[in-house]
Amino acid sequence: MNCTACTHPLDAPAQLCPACVRGLDVRLSELPGQYLLLATHLRPGAARGDGPVALVRTPPLPVREDVLDMRAEGGLVTVLEGWREAMQQARGWGPPARTGSIERRVVAAARGLRMNIEWIAESFPGAGDMAREIRHLAGQAAALLDPAPSTLSVGDCAAELGGDICGAPLRVPHGTTTVRCCRCGTDYPPHLWMTLATGAWAAPAGAAA
Ligand SMILES: [Zn+2]
Ligand SMILES: [Zn+2]
Repeated sequence: MNCTACTHPLDAPAQLCPACVRGLDVRLSELPGQYLLLATHLRPGAARGDGPVALVRTPPLPVREDVLDMRAEGGLVTVLEGWREAMQQARGWGPPARTGSIERRVVAAARGLRMNIEWIAESFPGAGDMAREIRHLAGQAAALLDPAPSTLSVGDCAAELGGDICGAPLRVPHGTTTVRCCRCGTDYPPHLWMTLATGAWAAPAGAAA
C-alpha cells in the first residue's frame, strides 16, 4: 500500500505517509495567517513600504486581481471549506456551517480539518487529492506573498522537505539566471529549468536529471 499523495510505500494501511501528514498539518496551520497577510498585498508594491502614499500625486495602482481572487469567495476559503465538507460527509456528519467573515471561515475550515487530521490520514478516501490540492494552494499563497517582481514561470519546486514535496511555484526573476524557491530556498540552475517546466521531475525516471 502506498501514500495516496506522494506514492511512497507505507508501513501500515493508511491514506497518507507521515511526511505528507506533517506537511498537510503545517500548511493548514499556516494558511489562515497567509490569508490575512494577503490583504497587505492587494496593491503592487503596497507591502514594500514605499513611503507616505498620500504625498504622491499619481492615481492609485490597480488592485492585484490574482490576490483578490485568492481572498474572495471561490478562492482559498472555498478550497478549505470544500474539503472540510467532503471530510465530514465521508464521516457521516452534516455539512459544516459557513457563517461570518471570510477570515473567520478560513480559520474555522482549517481548524476543522486539523482536528480530524488523524482520521483523514488513516481513512479519508480523498486524503491524497486533498493533500496535493492544499500543497498547491499554499504554494500559490506563498508566491503571491513573495514581494520580488518576477516573470517567467518554470514549474513547481521539487525539493523534498523531510519526505514531503515543497511544491511552491518557481519563477525566473528579472535580470537573473538563478531561480530560488521563495518557500524553501532551494536553488535551481538554468540547466534544470526544462526538467521543472515539463514536470519530468515528478516521474521516477526524471528524478536524477
Ligand atoms: Zn506521502
Ligand atoms: Zn521549495
